[in-house]
Amino acid sequence: MNIGQEVLSLLKEEITEIEYKRYIKQLTYDPKKSSTDLAVFYAPNALVANWIKSKYTEKIAHLFEIKNGSKVSIKIALKNQTDLEKPKQNVEQKVQHSLLNPSHTFDNFMVGGSNQFAYAAVKSVSEKPGIVYNPLFIYGGVGLGKTHLMQAAGNVFQNQGKSVIYTTVEQFLNDFIRHLRNKTMERFQEKYRKCDVLLIDDIQFLSNKDSIQEEFFHTFEALKGAGKQIILTADKHPKKIGGLEERLQSRFEWGLVADIQPPELETKIAIIEKKCEINKVKLTKDIINYIATVIDSNVREIEGILSKLHAYSQLMHVDIDLAFTKNVLKDQLQENRANLTLDTITQSVSKDLNIKPSEIRSKGRSKNLVYARRIAIYISRELTQNTMPQLAQYFGMKDHTAISHTLKKINELIEHDEDFKVKIDELTNKITSTS
Ligand code: ADP
Ligand code: MG
Repeated sequence: MNIGQEVLSLLKEEITEIEYKRYIKQLTYDPKKSSTDLAVFYAPNALVANWIKSKYTEKIAHLFEIKNGSKVSIKIALKNQTDLEKPKQNVEQKVQHSLLNPSHTFDNFMVGGSNQFAYAAVKSVSEKPGIVYNPLFIYGGVGLGKTHLMQAAGNVFQNQGKSVIYTTVEQFLNDFIRHLRNKTMERFQEKYRKCDVLLIDDIQFLSNKDSIQEEFFHTFEALKGAGKQIILTADKHPKKIGGLEERLQSRFEWGLVADIQPPELETKIAIIEKKCEINKVKLTKDIINYIATVIDSNVREIEGILSKLHAYSQLMHVDIDLAFTKNVLKDQLQENRANLTLDTITQSVSKDLNIKPSEIRSKGRSKNLVYARRIAIYISRELTQNTMPQLAQYFGMKDHTAISHTLKKINELIEHDEDFKVKIDELTNKITSTS
């Protein structure tokens, strides 16, 4: 593998599979045209090239820097385009300082019950660094906004002219190894121990890496002793990260440990609206609600979805409406729901409405049963690949016409009965966020 391919495979880890397949996978690296300070990639068409330029060049540049230790300018050219002018000066400069994502700000972070504790903690640290909570430890699942929040504080500090280091454990480790090899450990220590703010992302990867734990411990002590702010994130509580030296684990809990939970529906809606605003994508309320109910709690998917919608609508010259959205998201949803079965849906409906699964699947005609069965059938049709005859068999109906009749009835209800529609949305949301 050449360095270009290596960088792309590192990038793959940082983005969604959909984003990777749709854009990054289409890139080819040209080792001949590239040099130590220029990396040249080819994209198959202008659409892909533009998306990659606007969305990923900073990331790619950053990964190159980690890999070979020096700054590299990134050129995304079209496959048959040979004139490779040198990138402009200001582009190069931007790359040097762009380790923090400038759109990761507090203003762009939507606060709800699920994340308000972490938000308040990071906000107050950004106002009084080194004083209130040091270290601040944020933990929670993938795509819930830990990196965003941490970088929001980083951006505040950077705008005040403080020296901020944002790094993942992997980058920290690579940097360590490189300095060790080059016998320049003083420079390494100077860099990390003299900064004003140290942000380390995904600290769980320190687990079982003894030499770097030792180095990190001394960095931590130096910074903490000098009253410099440290912010850490992880996917779990410090107590639950195995393979950590005891002295590190206890220090992680010295300041404040704050968790982030999966967002509620309203927060997801607010996040989607915000992302639309930032990415200049116009979506109706209907579409936003739809996206919010069908994606799971991992907010990271949202940007991939928006760029996909945008790219498709440009490519096909159509407006983004609900039917179009459903169509575009089909394969994405199928991936999410590969393990969603009629059993799991029926169980969720049964639990929510307090009716036994066997009753939902029976021929009973009481009002409550019919109501529950309709909801289960509708959601099953929306979320699984089962055919109408398969649904008929499962739900104890005569044949596919009975199912088709039920679906027609439900669509009428959804249109005229707001309560029913809300119930369906709520349950769909519940089922998709736990699958
Ligand atoms: P994590 O580090 O927890 O895996 P990220 O911080 O990378 O998650 O967030 C994933 C994506 O979701 C980012 O694009 C981020 O901006 C967005 N995001 C997550 N939570 C929020 C929020 N509350 N408001 C706005 N954007 C959010
Ligand atoms: Mg993160």
